[in-house]
Amino acid sequence: MTGAVVTAAPPAATTEAEWSAAVSAIRELAPTGRVLLICHVNPDGDALGSMLGFALGLRRLGVTQLQATFPGPFEVPEPFRALPGLDLLVPDQQAWANPDLLLVFDVAAESRLGALVDRLPRARATVVLDHHASNTRFGGVNLVDATAAATSVVAEELLGRLDVPLDVEIAECLYVALATDTGSFRFDMTTPRVHEMAARLIATGLRPGEISRRVFDSRPFGAMKLSAEVVGRAQLDPTAAAGHGMVWTYATLADLERHGQRPYVLDALIDPVRSVAEVDVSMVVKELAEREWAVSLRSKGAVDVSAVAMALGGGGHRLAAGFTGYGTPGDVVTAVRDQLGRHLIP
Ligand code: AMP
Ligand code: MN
Ligand code: MN
Repeated sequence: MTGAVVTAAPPAATTEAEWSAAVSAIRELAPTGRVLLICHVNPDGDALGSMLGFALGLRRLGVTQLQATFPGPFEVPEPFRALPGLDLLVPDQQAWANPDLLLVFDVAAESRLGALVDRLPRARATVVLDHHASNTRFGGVNLVDATAAATSVVAEELLGRLDVPLDVEIAECLYVALATDTGSFRFDMTTPRVHEMAARLIATGLRPGEISRRVFDSRPFGAMKLSAEVVGRAQLDPTAAAGHGMVWTYATLADLERHGQRPYVLDALIDPVRSVAEVDVSMVVKELAEREWAVSLRSKGAVDVSAVAMALGGGGHRLAAGFTGYGTPGDVVTAVRDQLGRHLIP
């Protein structure tokens, strides 16, 4: 299929029937019922925060058989290593094969579940909590709200419907999720509803300054030096995206090794790159393995990068998306460049 324009219809708002189905699935668990919570590969603040915050809520409800996990190497990025509820995490190989209830967080499509995708048919019931417009509704119950700034917004609502009061630990998890997905309350999705939720979370006594320092403003010296190199090799392409322009850079496994850094440190690099005033689209191409790259795309409003990413096998949100690219960084850039003009936002 060439030249196809892939646009996802926004999912309809979650119905009362779906909310009650999710509430019943949790309330009707047997006392020994095993609940497995999973989030997407290469987990970010929203994936981990919404999952762990919800898991802590279930613990408050008296659920004792709880596991939380994510696919791939069992490594939590440093910024999230102080999140409450980390004791609930297990490596993906140790996750129950046949849980009584499977809860899925911040996952738009099954392809983001890696090896854990096999739990979907094996779980007795599955509830998906998400906020991607492109969500494929792969659960038995799908709580998908494309107007929510983070999956933690959906998680907070479900906790409320279960009458779980917020405590400072649950709140810290949900706050990290909300703060990371809104770019520290800067993006367009930062609605009154987001600030109202932040107010409820902060009212539990959490320390926003401390959390922000840990999550956003702290990194090893080597990560700073690596960032300088990667940003230093960025290239400007003013004619891309029908003249809206693109800036891009790449980072290799050799770069990581030279500076003694782990791959997740590269996830922060899209921020300095997307600050370039001359262009609409920004991109960071991060080496995963030989000729395989994790690509981060951002737009300021001229291009629907989620459509670009979907056309290349990935997904995401209109202004923040990603996919896995193959070949050289140049091949990846060419593939993106070819798509940009086809997905301009009218
Ligand atoms: P990132 O650039 O990794 O911060 O991702 C931005 C957005 O794109 C997130 O909402 C992700 O869910 C989505 N995304 C990133 N990579 C992929 C992928 N390989 N497949 C589908 N969605 C992705
Ligand atoms: Mn995410
Ligand atoms: Mn999210």
